[in-house]
Amino acid sequence: MKIIVCMKQVPDTNEVKIDPVKGTLIRDGVPSIINPDDKNAIEEAVRIKESREDAHVTVISMGPPQAGTALREALAMGADEAILLSDREFAGSDTWATSAILASAINRIGDYDIIFCGRQAIDGDTAQVGPEIAEHLKLPQITYVSNLEIHEDEVITHRTVEDGYYVIKSQMPVLLTAIKDLNTPRYPSIKGIYQAYREKEIKIWSINDIIVDRENIGLKGSPTNVKSSFTPSVKFNGEILSGTTKEVINELIVKLREKQVI
Ligand SMILES: Cc1cc2nc3c(=O)[nH]c(=O)nc-3n(C[C@H](O)[C@H](O)[C@H](O)COP(=O)(O)OP(=O)(O)OC[C@H]3O[C@@H](n4cnc5c(N)ncnc54)[C@H](O)[C@@H]3O)c2cc1C
Repeated sequence: MKIIVCMKQVPDTNEVKIDPVKGTLIRDGVPSIINPDDKNAIEEAVRIKESREDAHVTVISMGPPQAGTALREALAMGADEAILLSDREFAGSDTWATSAILASAINRIGDYDIIFCGRQAIDGDTAQVGPEIAEHLKLPQITYVSNLEIHEDEVITHRTVEDGYYVIKSQMPVLLTAIKDLNTPRYPSIKGIYQAYREKEIKIWSINDIIVDRENIGLKGSPTNVKSSFTPSVKFNGEILSGTTKEVINELIVKLREKQVI
């Protein structure tokens, strides 16, 4: 069984600040992490590998050379192989172009059973890339996966919705997007870290290693453009209530009723 996990390196949003003038993220000096949902995807892939002798896990990421650090962490968690898609021509890709590049790389890897993505990246935040990869590859997709079982050539999943979950079954190959309820990602072991840095390689693929239409990638080939971004200004001052817990709750309820919030 071949599993491919698409993972993105993102700034740790707990540390990110917004430039008050430009309205853009201040990334300088901000530590990067594996996108949280992608960690759940990696964890699930590694658990499948541990339960089946024939399983092989490949992690792929499109990004600048420093995304290699995130791929090393995935190798340390137990992935077998890592591929970094890095090329100046990929820069500025929107979600459609990003998914086209990732789909081309997946086509080159070939012979896959499960493609895992995270549900959503905490920086771009669109939740579009996973479903778009499935569209490029003409694969069935199940998003918001919170439970996974594999039976012969089928997956049976729980797809979480607001007030419960659907049970959805699909033939493999299939694309799944993981949410945090799927599992608790492990910390890499010392042995895992040693192997990731000493025994495992990260392959670097450029545009010449995949078959992709140059017209459809990068800033030029992206059908969407960000016109502007801004931080909403704070219109009202907050009010601090004082008193005992009971008094504060009662006062809060009165105020919310006055404003017809409840
Ligand atoms: C309109 C628009 C314009 C943009 N313009 C630029 C730009 O000019 N320059 C720029 O650098 N960025 C740009 N971006 C951001 C960039 O396109 C996105 O970060 C990228 O396409 C992924 O989208 P996302 O972060 O919303 O991921 P989501 O769709 O939220 O991610 C879902 C999942 O897809 C997978 N995934 C997403 N991205 C990657 C990746 N790179 N490698 C591997 N797996 C991945 C992960 O599993 C992730 O959990 C733009 C985004 C938009 C919406």
